[in-house]
Amino acid sequence: MKILITGGAGFIGSHLAEAYLEKGDDVYIIDDLSTGSLDNLQPMTSDPRFQNRIFVTVDTILNHESLLELTGICDVVFHLAAAVGVLTILEKPLESIRTNIQGTEKVLELCNKFKKKVLIASTSEVYGKHLHAPLVETDNIIYGPSSKFRWSYAASKLMDEFTALAYYRTHGLKTIVARLFNTVGPRQTGAYGMVIPRFVDQALSGKPLTIYGDGSQTRTFTYVKDVVQAFMALMETDDAAGQVLNIGGIEEISIRSLAEKIIELTASGSRIEYIPYEKAFGKDFEDMQRRVPGIEKIHKLIGYDPKTTLDEILRQIIASKQIG
Ligand code: UDP
Repeated sequence: MKILITGGAGFIGSHLAEAYLEKGDDVYIIDDLSTGSLDNLQPMTSDPRFQNRIFVTVDTILNHESLLELTGICDVVFHLAAAVGVLTILEKPLESIRTNIQGTEKVLELCNKFKKKVLIASTSEVYGKHLHAPLVETDNIIYGPSSKFRWSYAASKLMDEFTALAYYRTHGLKTIVARLFNTVGPRQTGAYGMVIPRFVDQALSGKPLTIYGDGSQTRTFTYVKDVVQAFMALMETDDAAGQVLNIGGIEEISIRSLAEKIIELTASGSRIEYIPYEKAFGKDFEDMQRRVPGIEKIHKLIGYDPKTTLDEILRQIIASKQIG
């Protein structure tokens, strides 16, 4: 099989590429390297087993010609190219909206032209600011006002979901929407705000771990390899077409406990520093207090059953940073 991964040089995309290469498939990647990096692909491009089976195009998905050619060649498409990270959204709001909305529309248009099955990576941000748990796919969504730009990310990804579902309804295109909950693992960078790589870097360099707010907000982190396995299984499952599915982890943890855990696991002498949201992100920022995935739907569909503990995931991330 020929697999196209938009955003394939990113953190999740590179793990997906690796899994398909290991399986014996050919992997085509298009990435503009805005947040992705060829370093993420280096373990694969330098592996003699994978030579002549990995093809990387450095370009934006907004370039019609590149995307047309790649979509025509490949059998299935994973659309992961997107503006990622709270910092990216706040610093480049227009570019982020354009990449997410126009980019996804273009991917879907070309998948429809060639009738290629496509998985769209969406996000738990789409749910907005719920406090209840777990969040299930049929829940309402609650956003803050448009003056708070964080919500532009949720709104743009929600529009991507509607567009994918509309292609399914209107043209019968096999589209799958996967809502990811704080995916983490080796190769994730802290440069765009993601908390775990930031805390691990801070702990390993003896700097204070910077908690935004009071640290009582919670997240449920998902191991990147569980996401990759779920993506691959969904692509092979006929009943996944036209569906929205959460992909999430199992252990809800407060950001304060996360910081303490990382200090312990790295045996770091770092202290914790509390930074008001306003100082970190400006006054027009609003955080999500809680985010816990309901994973019953995907469990029923593909037997999804994540088992790797947060401690184990953190140990892997710490080890990868100590080597790298
Ligand atoms: N966070 C933090 N310190 C950091 C980076 C993030 O306290 O250096 C917090 C952030 O405010 C949020 C949580 O950690 O409450 C998760 O942040 P991340 O950006 O990783 O994911 P998201 O906000 O998209 O869930």
